[in-house]
Amino acid sequence: MNKEEMLKKYNDWKFRCSAYEMALSIIGIDKLTVAPPDGSAYRDERTAYLAGELFSIRTDPEIAEILKVLKNDETIDPDIRKEAELNFKSVSDILCIPKEEYVAFRHLSDQAYDAWYEAKTKSDYSIFEPYLKKIIEARKKMYGYRDSALPLYDRMLDDYEPGMTAEKYDEFFGKLKERLVPLIRKVTAAEQVDESFAFRSYPTGLQKAWTEKQLLPYLGFTKNWGYQNETEHPFTSWTCQNDCRTTTKYLENNVMSSIFSTIHETGHAWYEHNISPKYDGSILSSGVSSGMHESQSRFCENYLGRSLPFWEANYESLQKQFPEQLGDVTVEQFVNACNASEPSFVRTEADELTYPLHILIRYEIEKGLFSGEISVEGLDQTWNEMYKKFLGVDVPNAAKGILQDVHWSSGDFGYFPTYALGSAFGAQFYRQMRKEMDVDEALRSGNYLACISWLKEHIHQYGCRYNADEIMRMATGEPFDPEYYIEYLEEKYTKLYHLD
Ligand code: ZN
Repeated sequence: MNKEEMLKKYNDWKFRCSAYEMALSIIGIDKLTVAPPDGSAYRDERTAYLAGELFSIRTDPEIAEILKVLKNDETIDPDIRKEAELNFKSVSDILCIPKEEYVAFRHLSDQAYDAWYEAKTKSDYSIFEPYLKKIIEARKKMYGYRDSALPLYDRMLDDYEPGMTAEKYDEFFGKLKERLVPLIRKVTAAEQVDESFAFRSYPTGLQKAWTEKQLLPYLGFTKNWGYQNETEHPFTSWTCQNDCRTTTKYLENNVMSSIFSTIHETGHAWYEHNISPKYDGSILSSGVSSGMHESQSRFCENYLGRSLPFWEANYESLQKQFPEQLGDVTVEQFVNACNASEPSFVRTEADELTYPLHILIRYEIEKGLFSGEISVEGLDQTWNEMYKKFLGVDVPNAAKGILQDVHWSSGDFGYFPTYALGSAFGAQFYRQMRKEMDVDEALRSGNYLACISWLKEHIHQYGCRYNADEIMRMATGEPFDPEYYIEYLEEKYTKLYHLD
């Protein structure tokens, strides 16, 4: 086969894969948002079948051979060479798995999601436990097929953040623990920030109306390329750069929850939307790693969204929407409440300072589950013990404890640590952005998009063209250094709680 024929076959294959991926993505979004639950069994079987068809297309041996040639061909377009290299790795990682097992896993994960949802609604871990056990066993088996010298859990970590291992995460979390645990103790002992007004009654219909009229337009999230829905667990998904779907969740007694989940999820959506359109339909058209994705969403949520200038542009309108609840609250008091730190049990509602400890708990549990030191039986109790140990709180029930996160139901082990890593990446980007532009002025004057443009230019546009380390170096001029994150938190919380 000559090169032209090879490229033609490769492009046909890419198109077919992207068509199935699009269908599966839409079916997945539909399941999590609006699909009636009683139709699950019927839909899940057919979804698993489609996933199997995609598996067969992806693992076509002729394509694997073509990819092997293309990834080493110095004469072709470097973008295609990079695509071929990433595709070859992703194909090789699944080529070793028997198709029936792959399809069965897909089916199992859909059923496990339904079990998790029911368990969470009833706050009963025993409903989810047998599924979690099956998911872990299936994951161990599937990762076991891979031709890799890495230990099992490292293979999972590497899937979400290429190059990261448990050893590297241990070092990262070790540094965080050493400096943040004493800081959290000081903050807990200091005079507390008043945030009681955030938990008054805020009718959810009014929250939604404000989000649509003020917040989403400010964030530049428009209906031409994005859509927001509501779900139990907010998420973002997409089919291409001009079709990004996010969700949020409105809580009557917590006005902050939906606001920050909206800013967070649209941060993910902006990343996907800003990737160069020339990569659409290829493996390069996606955020480069989970850590980098979380760095963008958490950047928008925390570094931008919890700042005073952000609220100088938005607070008046929120106050008008809720005159009884916020009439006696100044913008400074509101922003202080947005940043108040208090050890709690729910990760997605945690403040920036205690957040990494929520992640540390999940990371320690995952390591234990795959090394055999922690068992699925009684995992709800193990969870509660770790919350007591690291955050000093008593988890009231399983819904607010082990069942709060959806990730394990789909077998996403190794993902959680990227949340903490992403937050730390964000601090380094934030420092650089502030050197290059007047971030406060942009936010205050309603020009949020100036910040998004900086992220697009330095991070988003590249998709997977460069790896996370290369992007960090290109954007900030140095390799990743968690020190910036720790310094940011120390400075912010020392000031907010008058610790010096
Ligand atoms: Zn996220």
